Amino acid sequence: MLTTEHLTAEQLYATLKNIKVGGTVCHYSLKKCAEFVPIINEINELKQEQNAVILAHSYVSPEIVYGVADFVGDSYQLSKDAMTTDAQKIIFAAVRFMGETAQILNPEKEVLIPGLLDGCTLADSINAEEVKKLRAQFPNHTFVCYINTTAEVKAECDVCVTSANVYDIVQKIPNNQIYFLPDKLMGKNLVMEMHRRGVKKNIQYHEGTCYVHEEYEPSQIYEIRMEHPQVKVVSHPECRPEVCEASDFVGSTSQMLDYMLKTDAKDFLMLTECGLSARLQVEFPDKRLVGSCTLCRYMKSNSLLDILRVLKNPSDRDRVFLSEETRLKAHKCIEAMFHYTQG
Ligand code: SF4
Repeated sequence: MLTTEHLTAEQLYATLKNIKVGGTVCHYSLKKCAEFVPIINEINELKQEQNAVILAHSYVSPEIVYGVADFVGDSYQLSKDAMTTDAQKIIFAAVRFMGETAQILNPEKEVLIPGLLDGCTLADSINAEEVKKLRAQFPNHTFVCYINTTAEVKAECDVCVTSANVYDIVQKIPNNQIYFLPDKLMGKNLVMEMHRRGVKKNIQYHEGTCYVHEEYEPSQIYEIRMEHPQVKVVSHPECRPEVCEASDFVGSTSQMLDYMLKTDAKDFLMLTECGLSARLQVEFPDKRLVGSCTLCRYMKSNSLLDILRVLKNPSDRDRVFLSEETRLKAHKCIEAMFHYTQG
């Protein structure tokens, strides 16, 4: 990533000029880069002065990813990356529940969230009280939560999973009765995958959805395949089962990038947030994107100016606060994931 102290507009433009996704939001001119550069340089100086580290989810704007981020990836990997640094302050450019995961794993560090929108359609679909009621309704089920949940929801569940390990962990859980939350579409994909693997599980799931991935339809894939017969379609397990079925590869954001790197194919349709498409255009310029992508309004509520603001003058709202009781219970849920992935 470009985290030199004194970046020039020409350097930033050279990195970002190939990005053509998400309408005008992610199109870059030399003039636009010249406006970003003084803010980027000020952030990078403050970061060093304050022993701070900036984590950026792949879905935030490219000027954050390539201008100021120390680590880029998915929420789980980023939270683990934060554990490897001696930085005392973490600026997490993503959504609040991802900052909470960083706080759960890094209790001695200060975690700040520059994004202006707190929740998202998926995480907001369930709260701790609703999980408690479901537990009373399904007392014999193991409660499995996706990492895209708040800390208070994780605190009420047994095992946390990511999009990369959900299938393997659910297969390993010794209980046949599973309640999966909050993503309905990932829950349906989970049921189908267990069936494909011949694993007998009774899986109930909650009704939440990620509005970014929910909007894709198989018809989009068929149309693109007619125009580009060689295209490889990659999708995320938060997409509808019919979409996943019609795709060449389904995986987490890091697994998608790995797949595209390893395959000889040139043309890709990426059914996920535009930030990942932008990373493809910057990091794999010999690959070609076809079709469109979708912007997540929650992820895109992070800006360079807000990162600068939380470094200079953070408010209480920008900080992640978790009670020690919630943090410890949520930590146990995440530790159960480590147990299944290491075992
Ligand atoms: S892409 Fe946006 S809406 Fe979907 S789970 Fe991530 S933060 Fe939530």
